[in-house]
Amino acid sequence: MCIFCKIINQEIPAYRVYEDEQVLAFLDIKPVNPGHTLVIPKKHYQNLEEIPEEELKYLITVVKKVAYLLKTKLGLAAYNLSVNNGRAAGQEVEHLHFHLIPRDAHDQHRSWLRTTYAPGAAEEIIKKLRS
Ligand code: 5GP
Ligand code: ZN
Repeated sequence: MCIFCKIINQEIPAYRVYEDEQVLAFLDIKPVNPGHTLVIPKKHYQNLEEIPEEELKYLITVVKKVAYLLKTKLGLAAYNLSVNNGRAAGQEVEHLHFHLIPRDAHDQHRSWLRTTYAPGAAEEIIKKLRS
């Protein structure tokens, strides 16, 4: 059983932020900033590809609710919402989860480094996506 399923089953403790029949939100054990929360479906799905659309729709409504809770109760200025989908994207726990990461203008976290398209490269991408 994966570590998040163990948290769902209360075999491993976690600070639970929100819970209902389908979804659990709890504090990340190694927060980027205090209040960093993970929102997960209680059914084990590895990634966005696996979760059925109806369940995803419900999950994202809970993400919105938990984000509002963090924003109002913790007085957050802003937050990042992210999914590391797949190992190459930094997914370590193979149970789909949304990160809600509190941010403020003065923290030291940087977003991704940007690149530029070589001539013709964007057109190639568009051609593949539309084929
Ligand atoms: P990923 O890199 O897979 O997107 O994120 C996994 C997240 O789960 C990490 O931010 C990590 O700190 C968190 N995490 C891993 N194990 C535990 C745990 O046992 N308890 C809690 N609360 N969070 C965990
Ligand atoms: Zn799991």
